Amino acid sequence: MATAQLEQRLISALEQIEVIDAHEHLSPEHVRTSAKVDVLTLFSHYTEGDLKVAGMSDADFQASQNHDLPLDRRWALFAPYLEHIRWGSYARAAFIAAQKFYGADDINEKTYIEISEKMAKANTPGIYQRVLRDACNIRTALTQCVRTDVDRPLLTPIMPLVADWAREPEPETWERVQRPAIIDWQGNSHVLDPSREVRTLDDLLSAHRTYTERVKSEGAVGLKMASGPYQPPSREAASQCFEDLQKGAISSLPTANPLRDYVVDEMIRFTGEQDLVVAVHTGYWGDFRALDPLHMIPVLQRHPNVRFDMYHLGYPWVRESIMLGKGFANVWLNFCWTHIISQRFATDALDEVIDVVPMNKIIAFGGDYALPVEKVYGHLVMAREDIARVLAGRIERGQMTEDQALTLARKWLFDNPKDLYRLDL
Ligand SMILES: [Zn+2]
Repeated sequence: MATAQLEQRLISALEQIEVIDAHEHLSPEHVRTSAKVDVLTLFSHYTEGDLKVAGMSDADFQASQNHDLPLDRRWALFAPYLEHIRWGSYARAAFIAAQKFYGADDINEKTYIEISEKMAKANTPGIYQRVLRDACNIRTALTQCVRTDVDRPLLTPIMPLVADWAREPEPETWERVQRPAIIDWQGNSHVLDPSREVRTLDDLLSAHRTYTERVKSEGAVGLKMASGPYQPPSREAASQCFEDLQKGAISSLPTANPLRDYVVDEMIRFTGEQDLVVAVHTGYWGDFRALDPLHMIPVLQRHPNVRFDMYHLGYPWVRESIMLGKGFANVWLNFCWTHIISQRFATDALDEVIDVVPMNKIIAFGGDYALPVEKVYGHLVMAREDIARVLAGRIERGQMTEDQALTLARKWLFDNPKDLYRLDL
């Protein structure tokens, strides 16, 4: 009982601490307010994976998100699977959000219509302010939506590190290498440097540098890549690939190839020179074997002066990721997405990093949502619970005072991401 009271007191104190949300996929607010939303929007994001693993067909999932169909029909498709996923951390964020913003104690047969009506009514300009600022106490959210024209200062952009040709699961062709571009979520292609035609490998690097400088001038504070089995960069091997594509000696390269390895490595270096952060997705996604965080060790060693923000604790390679934070001065460990993967794992990991990693290197929260902004609140409630649980344990064992515990929380939630990204707040 005493523990529960202490945790509750800490949660109340944590709610007073401003948060830098260190990873989202939120688009500019007008994208959200011009979309149709209802209760099923709360299940349009990561819960999609759980619903499909539970047995929902892709066709039924797509139908459940199709606003041209009547809500009662879509709910009927969705409801049986909700019962399978409702106890998971992904779903919990939706239940917390529905309670907070739409007054629903549960999402079920009796409440789904009313929640939907209230969501549609609340989907107006100012919703980001109401959710992120007023309900969450978020100062700014670092967001990756493949555009920089986001609602600053509430949102702060992060952009892709390199053109999409180097990371899509498609072979690289001369056409793509010649016009390196990033693709936005509407499928539009944005050429990195429209003023330049790529004829040489140096042109390709220049196009990327021009892009980096441009997005930095537009407010981007970091560039994002994913962990992967990158080989040591070789300009010679990259040149050979480039020429083979250019001359038509080969029609395409596999996704992993010396040209990609070289360009990615050069752009990591340049990003560091521009004093921007390299954000790195590690672990969990699709065939996550390729995303092992340990692939990053040679990269970290080659770029000791570049700041790397390692996302997601590399789930399920949690200990391996913690060791990256233990051994490399250029690594920060970012708990974005973790509290909705599993509160149990996130709590255990947070407790362990106090033992292992210096406290200026931990970032406690990133919601990792796109359209359902309300779930950022749900996720943050869960993160605060996890933080409070860990700190309460330390306090009860007499290892720290409540003041010391809250000083740590302030670093994790605000000071550390502010310092890492050199945010001017
Ligand atoms: Zn993400």
